[in-house]
Amino acid sequence: MINLVLFGPPGAGKGTQSEKLIKKYGFVHISTGDLFRWHTKNDTPLGQQVKEIMNSGALVPDEITIAMLKEELDKNPDAKGFLFDGFPRTVAQAEALDQFMKNNHTAIHFIIALDVEEKEVRQRIAKRRAIENRPDDEDDKLNKRITEYFSKTIHVLPYYEKQGRLNTVKGVGNIDDIFTSITAIIDRKEAQV
Ligand code: AMP
Repeated sequence: MINLVLFGPPGAGKGTQSEKLIKKYGFVHISTGDLFRWHTKNDTPLGQQVKEIMNSGALVPDEITIAMLKEELDKNPDAKGFLFDGFPRTVAQAEALDQFMKNNHTAIHFIIALDVEEKEVRQRIAKRRAIENRPDDEDDKLNKRITEYFSKTIHVLPYYEKQGRLNTVKGVGNIDDIFTSITAIIDRKEAQV
């Protein structure tokens, strides 16, 4: 079993790279953003609870996010491995994730951060907004989401870095080249897992 966290600001290309990684390695994809969007779209009690928060671009409280993630893990007891996309976004979430893995006698084997500058991210999201029309990609919400990343989420990186677990990949350039850099990390270390 291999578990991977793909890390990066909104618009870093996590969705694109996740799709390619799933195809290659057969991960179960857990995107907390997609899960929250599913709940809001289907107007579930959880969706109703987080709708306003999401639309403002703020982070959903840890307690709610961690509980949803745990439920998702429990739904997939036979997974070959998980790819976490958009989670963890706080140190509390990172600690909870390590604990869940430990409880299941496994671990997060790879933490891969896509490194993209703030300016580039803003340009990409402006393009995506034109195509996908995601409500949380609107200007003020977008500003908030990017601010949340650079003020809160980025602090998760030292948590992994201190433990010598962080791999950084430049997230700018050709999609296939970025993918090759990611798979090189996985394939190099896979034998040691
Ligand atoms: P994303 O598509 O990953 O950018 O997530 C969209 C929105 O869902 C975020 O702006 C947050 O409101 C919420 N969200 C997704 N993942 C998390 C998380 N790990 N912690 C808190 N909020 C989250």
